[in-house]
Amino acid sequence: MSSIADNLGSVTRRIQKATLAAGRAPGSVRLLAVSKTRPPADLRQAHAVGQRAFGENYLQEALEKIEALRDLPDLEWHFIGPIQSNKTRQIAAHFHWVHSVDRLKVARRLSEQRDDTQPPLNICLQVNIDDEATKSGCRLAELPELAGAIARLPNLRLRGLMAIPDPNQADSGRRTSFRQLAQALEQLRLQLAGGAPLDTLSMGMSDDLELAIAEGATWVRVGTAVFGERSAKAP
Ligand SMILES: *Cc1c(COP(=O)(O)O)cnc(C)c1O
Repeated sequence: MSSIADNLGSVTRRIQKATLAAGRAPGSVRLLAVSKTRPPADLRQAHAVGQRAFGENYLQEALEKIEALRDLPDLEWHFIGPIQSNKTRQIAAHFHWVHSVDRLKVARRLSEQRDDTQPPLNICLQVNIDDEATKSGCRLAELPELAGAIARLPNLRLRGLMAIPDPNQADSGRRTSFRQLAQALEQLRLQLAGGAPLDTLSMGMSDDLELAIAEGATWVRVGTAVFGERSAKAP
């Protein structure tokens, strides 16, 4: 079994190779290590070889890890799971980024509950890019209105878009979904014209990060390829 350090090395090389192949600037794609279901010791191993950004899906589990790793002051926490509106206070208090905002009610609460002494919370809007019945995310058609409203909330910084394409598609279908997300970000840039940074596309996971980078991903969210298979029993 390969170590987390080895895995991080090979994922980093995959990212570099795909970035180069796409003719994009070195360093323009960042690795979010998705650490759901992993114990704090695994995150410490990743931290020891330079990984700083971690993505978590389940709030209670994340809060326990944040507490257990308090001695590592430079961690960057990203919330990437579905958000119930009664959980926003803790998310606003403890995270640097949220990739999974898909409705205005949640965004308003995050902004109201973010402490004024903290920097604004970085936000990606999650889009249900393939219109799957069971997946979170807003529809593409809802984006202009939703993004316009969220860009005006004082304690949030709208950074861009996130999506998880339907995994049952062939590569070409996934690539089309990534491209649609990139085009949607372009349209928002025109619409909001400087009203928000809009520098972020959170897309691509262990299986398809190369396709996502070819279409402009700036964060790839990678779990399995960094930490190994998740046990089926885990949440
Ligand atoms: C679990 C998860 C990932 C990572 O998936 P892998 O296939 O393990 O790389 C990425 N994004 C989200 C939203 C996830 O829930």
